[in-house]
Amino acid sequence: MYEALRNPELKLAIRNLLSGKSLSYKINAQDRSVDYFVDGRPVSKGNIELLKASGVVKELVGESFIACPYDGSTELRVTLYCPVHNKPVVKSELYEDMTTGQLLNRDEAKGRKGITRLYWFRCSEGELVNSPKIVLMCQNGHRFELGDAISVQVKEYVIDEKARIAVEDYDLFINSLAKAFGEIGYSSSAPAIVKGASGASYSLDMLLNGGTETIGVLVMEFSDVSLQNVIAQLPQLYDLSLSLSRLLLVIVPRLPQEILQAFEKGNITVISGDNLGTVTKDALNKVLPSAKQSPA
Ligand SMILES: [Zn+2]
Ligand SMILES: [Zn+2]
Repeated sequence: MYEALRNPELKLAIRNLLSGKSLSYKINAQDRSVDYFVDGRPVSKGNIELLKASGVVKELVGESFIACPYDGSTELRVTLYCPVHNKPVVKSELYEDMTTGQLLNRDEAKGRKGITRLYWFRCSEGELVNSPKIVLMCQNGHRFELGDAISVQVKEYVIDEKARIAVEDYDLFINSLAKAFGEIGYSSSAPAIVKGASGASYSLDMLLNGGTETIGVLVMEFSDVSLQNVIAQLPQLYDLSLSLSRLLLVIVPRLPQEILQAFEKGNITVISGDNLGTVTKDALNKVLPSAKQSPA
């Protein structure tokens, strides 16, 4: 979830989804894939995966569509054509004499007994057409046969209501920090990208800047809290912390104290809570006093 919010493109998409805008799609005629958009802005396939993995959206099976092979349009009109003359056919009425099997037109059938009505297709050249071919026309005037149409599966994505609460908590947390640090003269940017000591780039949820003092805020969510998984994160966190005055690591949900201690090394300050709604006070208590004392 927080990884998605550290990506500016996705952050905007999530905001728009939460405000009720829907995820729309266009079928890409070139590679026969589906492109997704939120509020007219494209959301890449990788980012769709990230939205899914982070629990912001749920994927539903969706529907299969056929589309124009030239522009991917799904607004199609079906027309039946005569395969011989390549002209549209019209439905026409025919009558059959049940005794002799003779086909009659309306006039011939009038008043006769033992007649049944049939429907048939008639070409504009006047011939009856046995098996018309299906021709599709898109809203932009492209004409193609059914066999040439693109067929794609369009997934449907719906916002997970739990994500709505989590994003509200996240906003409140970030805004509270921005406000408190703003009052002591810090500027803030959220999200932010910072280079670690190794030169590798890291995405932060927030960077607070007070002149020579820089405080990075990183929100981490652990679905797997094994010690092994925690240890695997450490080298990158140390690398990142070396280029900051302080790294505030916010871990949700709450982890046992023994595990939190593994993170708290050097200038890394760790807070942990069940959700972001509960950690703001803790974060300010732990980081604000030392920031106040340092020369800005
Ligand atoms: Zn014909
Ligand atoms: Zn078309």
